[in-house]
Amino acid sequence: MHSTPLKENRYSRQILLPEIGPEGQRKLARSKAVVIGCGALGTNALSFLVRAGVGQVKIVDRDIVDLSNLQRQALFEEADVGRPKAKVAEERLGRINSEIKIKGLVADLTHANIEGVIKWANVVLDATDNMDTRFLVNDACVKHGIPWVYAGAVGVTGMVMPVIPGGPCLRCVFPNLPRPGQLPTCDTAGIVNTLPGAIASLEVTEAFKIMQGKEPIEELMVLDVWHGDLQRIKVRRNPGCGTCGRRDFKFLQARERKTVVSLCGRNAVQIRPAKQLAGGLADLRRNLARSGEVEMADGVLKFKAKGVELTVFPDGRTIIGGTTNLSKAKTIFSKYIGD
Ligand SMILES: [Zn+2]
Repeated sequence: MHSTPLKENRYSRQILLPEIGPEGQRKLARSKAVVIGCGALGTNALSFLVRAGVGQVKIVDRDIVDLSNLQRQALFEEADVGRPKAKVAEERLGRINSEIKIKGLVADLTHANIEGVIKWANVVLDATDNMDTRFLVNDACVKHGIPWVYAGAVGVTGMVMPVIPGGPCLRCVFPNLPRPGQLPTCDTAGIVNTLPGAIASLEVTEAFKIMQGKEPIEELMVLDVWHGDLQRIKVRRNPGCGTCGRRDFKFLQARERKTVVSLCGRNAVQIRPAKQLAGGLADLRRNLARSGEVEMADGVLKFKAKGVELTVFPDGRTIIGGTTNLSKAKTIFSKYIGD
C-alpha cells in the first residue's frame, strides 16, 4: 500500500508516542475533519487538529469576530474584529501548517446544507454554542453513519461525548430540545477562558482515536475545570430513541422559514430570511448606499447608519449589531433588507 511520506521534524513528538506512532500519523494525514463552529471550542480544537497534521480540515461558522470573543477565542486578534471567523481562521491556520488543506465556510448550518457538509468527513467535531445545531448534527451524522464528538462549555463546566455509529447518540442522552432559556449560555452564565481549551483537548483526543480507528471513550465526560473534577458517565442506547432507534430524522426535515435568533456572547441578533436575496449583494449595496455607509469585504456587506450596524451574507442572512431585542432587530431588517 502506498504510504504518505512523513515530515520527520514537524510530527516527531507524536510519532514517538505509542498512542499515535508512524501508522497513526499516516492515518491522521489521510483524515478529513469538519469543525462546526469557530468560537472558543472551535479555535482551540482547530489549532490542535491543524498542528497535529490532520490532512483536511473544514471550518463552518456563521459569525463575525466580536471584541468580546478575544477573551477566549484563541486564533483571533484585535484587527480581526468585524471579519468572518471562518475566513480569519482559514488564513491563520494556513500559516500554522501549509502542508494540509484547510477550508473555511462562512455559512449558517441548516437542515438544507448540513448533509452535504458532513458527508465529506471522517469525523465531525461539535464546537457550536446551541442545542438546535447539535440535534441537527446528530441527525445528519447518525443518518450517514459518520462519527462525531459532542462538546459544550459554559461557566466552569464542560461536556464531551463521542457519538459512534451503532452506539448511543446525543438524543439517547437528551431526548428533547431544551426550551429557550432553560439552559445557561455563555451570555447568561459567563465562561472562564481556560475551560474551552480543556474541553477541546478532550474532544480532539477522542477525534484522534476515531481517525486512527481506535476505540474512543463512549461515555459522557463532564469536566469542572475550576474544581479539577472529571466525571465519566456511562450512557446507554435508548431503543426508543427518535434518531438512532426509529431513524426519524425530524431535525433534517424542518421547513424553510424565517428564523430570528440572538447570538450567544454577542450584543447581536441574526435573521435568516426564508428566501434568498432577490438581486444579490450587488443590488442591495446600491440600495443601501443611499441611506448610509456601505462596505464590501471577505464577500460580506457591512452597512452603517445612525444606530444601525448590519452584516449581510450573500444568501441574505443578516447580523444586526447593537441589540439583543428580537423585535427591534426584525424592524431594522424589514426597513433595510426587506421581508
Ligand atoms: Zn439515540
